[in-house]
Parts: sequence; C-alpha cells; structure tokens
Amino acid sequence: MSENALRPSPISPTVDFDADGVQHGFLRLPYSRDDSAWGSVMIPLTVIRNGKGPVALLTGGNHGDEYEGPIALFDLARSLKPEGVSGTVIIVPAMNYPAFLAGTRTSPIDKGNLNRSFPGRPDGTVTQKIADYFQRNLLPRADVVLDFHSGGRTLDFLPFCAAHILPDKEQEARAFELVKAFSAPYSMKMLEIDAVGMYDTAAEEMGKVFITTELGGGGTATAKSAGIAKRGVINVLRHAGIVAGSAEVMPTTWLDMPDGNCFSFAEEDGLIEPVFDLGDEVGEGAVVARIYPTGRTGAAPREIRAKMGGILCARHFPGLIKAGDCVVVIAVVVS
Ligand SMILES: [Zn+2]
Repeated sequence: MSENALRPSPISPTVDFDADGVQHGFLRLPYSRDDSAWGSVMIPLTVIRNGKGPVALLTGGNHGDEYEGPIALFDLARSLKPEGVSGTVIIVPAMNYPAFLAGTRTSPIDKGNLNRSFPGRPDGTVTQKIADYFQRNLLPRADVVLDFHSGGRTLDFLPFCAAHILPDKEQEARAFELVKAFSAPYSMKMLEIDAVGMYDTAAEEMGKVFITTELGGGGTATAKSAGIAKRGVINVLRHAGIVAGSAEVMPTTWLDMPDGNCFSFAEEDGLIEPVFDLGDEVGEGAVVARIYPTGRTGAAPREIRAKMGGILCARHFPGLIKAGDCVVVIAVVVS
C-alpha cells in the first residue's frame, strides 16, 4: 500500500491549528492560470483555540449558492473570542470558495460539486483538492462537525437541522442529540438520494458526530433563516462543551424521510404551478404541482402526485422546471 500512498495535500494553511488564540487566515491552494502564473485560491478560515478540549469543525458554502452558513460563520469568526472557548473551533464559512464567489452550486473552475467529490484527490482538480484537504487534514482533527446547507438557487426547504440513520447507533444517537441542540424549527432524519462522495458520509465513516442543515433556499437567505443559523451554531458549541452555558432549546417538529417515495421528479420540461406550499399537509395521491407544457396553449398540465402523505418539506424553486428536476419532497411528522 505504501507505494500507492497519497501524496501530501498541495494546500498550505496560513494558521497553526495547535496554537492558542484567534487566527484569521487562509487555506492556500496553488492554482496556476492565465491571470496568475503562480497564483492561488485563498480559502478564508478562522481557528479559535483555548487549550485542550473538543474540536468543532464548522463549514458553510460547500455549495456556493447557499447563504445561511456563510452568514452565521463569517459572523461567528469575527465575534467568538478565545476566552469564551474551551477547546478549538475551526470555521470555514465558504468551503468551495470559487463556487461561493461565483454564486453557483459548483465550482466555475472545474464544475466540481464539492459535496460529491469526497474523499477527493491531492493530484486532482481544484474541487478534488479541497475535498482531499478536508478528508485527510481537517476532519481527522474534529470531534463535532456541522456543515450548513440550504436549497441553493433551485430548491427551497422548510428550515431543518438533520442527521442520518447510521450503522453505529451510539454515533447516531449523539448526532441526533446535537440536532436537538441546534434547535431549528424542524429536525430531520434525513435520507440522501445518493450518499456517495458526500462530505457527510466521509465524516460519518470517520466516526465523527456530524450534523447538517437545509435552512431555506432560492439562492438567498432571509432574516428568519439567518437567525436560525446563528442561534444554531452557538447551540452546537454549547452542547459540545466548547462554549459555556446550555443550548437555548426551542420547540422543533421532528420529521422523517422514510424511503424514496418522499421524492417526486419531473418527467418533462414546463411551467410549474405549486399546489401546496412548504409546511402544508399533503395526503397520499394528492396533486402537489402541475407542469404546463410551454410550447402551445390548449394542452393539459401534467399532474405530479404525492407518493406518500406528510408535509411538504422541499420544493423546486424556479418557475420553470426541466425533466429530471426534483419537484417536491414530502416528510412524515414523527412524535
Ligand atoms: Zn447544499
């Protein structure tokens, strides 16, 4: 195996992860290109350390068009002081920084979807190099990992914090305790369409306590969704024992995505008419959306029906839809 061992990451941090105090620096990723022969991608990060203790790794901008995480984490990075911390907080507000600057889900450099690029490659594309650095250099340091998401430009979600069903039930229970501490209005037992290559999976396979969120979408944030993110991240640090005090726990509605029937996908392009809004109760078989063909008048719309009953927890955001797009997601309320 040794001759196949991976080369070191080309990324150099400008901070010392083992030094006490606050450091605002960068992950510097060499990227030679037309406008900068020996240039780099400079991914901002903050490390706040005060002695030995648990390590939290907090990330936003894994997808570049999702904003609650970057808002909460740029705010936290400037406001959290080492005297308020026991242990270490590593903050990367915009993980896929080129995508974040472009306002797009994937990187404009290589079209890489960071959350489908794990474990990454040290000799790969820019996005693969970012994934590899998190896989081998940052995740191994962490005890607790929070990765913020929302719907981006093409989806909108009920605001929820989520964890996954895991083979290790103790690890799963700790993750759901952290979801509860985050205290989003909704809390989800989340099913992934395809978990291969996800940061979530990488963290979970390393045995980390991993939680994620979907806090809104449409390529923007709201006052409400930004507030949920800011409260949630402090609650996570309190629950982990890194920040003093107990989590400010708010009422939450627990949701479950039991199987693939929670997803509906479009089979043709068209103009989408929502029939229900986020948070509405939907019966099994109910028409949740109509897709009108746009080529001519006089044609009946295609009706999209719920394959199970529950509440609408996600929807396609733009007014036009394409074949294969996710139309809605339905989740079941659990007591
Ligand atoms: Zn995302």
